[in-house]
Amino acid sequence: MGQEAQKIVINNGVDVEALILMWNKALADEWYAFIQYQAAVGIVKGLMRTDLEKELSEHAKEEYDHVLKIRNRIIELGGIPSDDPSTWSSLTNCGYKNPNNPVASEVLNQNLEAERCAIRVYDAIMKATKDSDPISYKLARDIMIEEIEHEQDLQDLQDDLEETLNFTRGQDL
Ligand code: FE
Ligand code: FE
Ligand code: MG
Repeated sequence: MGQEAQKIVINNGVDVEALILMWNKALADEWYAFIQYQAAVGIVKGLMRTDLEKELSEHAKEEYDHVLKIRNRIIELGGIPSDDPSTWSSLTNCGYKNPNNPVASEVLNQNLEAERCAIRVYDAIMKATKDSDPISYKLARDIMIEEIEHEQDLQDLQDDLEETLNFTRGQDL
């Protein structure tokens, strides 16, 4: 970490080790989020497969971008990013659900759950860094804006799926 950058954070009363751990826990969540989305691409099936796949691919790229940005902040803080997959299960806040059942509704549910957890994680990081580390605060805020978009995108797809199913059921009567 740069000398002056480090001094500023410490002078603000930050427990740097605790902050690095908080970011490494979020990093494990972001690696999982990237994989959880990417693992469904090409295998998801059901109604709206094309729309859903497009969204899953986009979100995978955005989760990977979160990985890169968090790694960068950890390094700036003088820490080592937890890129070892064997450490992720003990660090994660949100866990990992592999899309073993690639039905669209199930994939949507699993990723919605992960997005809602991510929103809570960044809310906590924002609260912890608000007055002490403006760089971490801004990063958590920028990522949270995208997680909120992700939740909305998936919720919209879920609503459309539900509407389509209701319509189809109506046709049968
Ligand atoms: Fe993310
Ligand atoms: Fe997300
Ligand atoms: Mg999207």
